[in-house]
Amino acid sequence: MDTDVREQVGHDTIEAQVKDMEKRIERIELALNKINRGHYGRCDKCGGAIPVERLELVPEALFCVDCEKKLHK
Ligand SMILES: [Zn+2]
Repeated sequence: MDTDVREQVGHDTIEAQVKDMEKRIERIELALNKINRGHYGRCDKCGGAIPVERLELVPEALFCVDCEKKLHK
């Protein structure tokens, strides 16, 4: 019984991680697209520049900090 529960939790965790990775891959593909179009480092929402420090932390960032915050509200 205990083992079953643990396996279930583990499975859910892995599934959540896979979903996170799929989302990340999607964003990376979008970011690569932006590089090809010469738009990399620009916010997809407001067109403003994404700070270099942010791109170093999140290379696949598509939005500036302000727009990203608005998206998660
Ligand atoms: Zn923006």
